Amino acid sequence: MAINDRTRQSVRDRAKFLCEYCHSPERSSSVVFTLDHLIPQSLGGSDEFDNLALACRRCNERRYNFTTEIDPQTQQEVALYNLRQQLWADHLIWTADALKILRTTTTGRAMAHRLDFNDEFHNQGFIQKSRQFWTQGGWHPRSEDPRQEM
Ligand SMILES: [Zn+2]
Repeated sequence: MAINDRTRQSVRDRAKFLCEYCHSPERSSSVVFTLDHLIPQSLGGSDEFDNLALACRRCNERRYNFTTEIDPQTQQEVALYNLRQQLWADHLIWTADALKILRTTTTGRAMAHRLDFNDEFHNQGFIQKSRQFWTQGGWHPRSEDPRQEM
């Protein structure tokens, strides 16, 4: 079943036009963000509104169809956090300069490792350079996100 334009727009509205994983603003992108399936289609996930998340291409491609990841600190396999049941702010926090996402829990570490939120394993940290511009422009990070003290 194809996802219709109304559902696509509702997902974008619900996400406030941010990637629901890394909180990158969609307007920073030259293309509209993709829709990720929380339960991957390859595992039977549906095109229902509650199974869809707005995701930048980086996060969508890196997440692929993984639902678990190894926490690099404990070496335990943990479930990636469920965007509909858990809060970003309970697992992740911005550095004071808002260039990096830090992990505060096992789930956050696993998610950050799978999605490489700070481009530490990909692209020589490119996303951090982008975040610097967004911060200078005053549109990053969103005010509701937790941020370390200066
Ligand atoms: Zn993202």
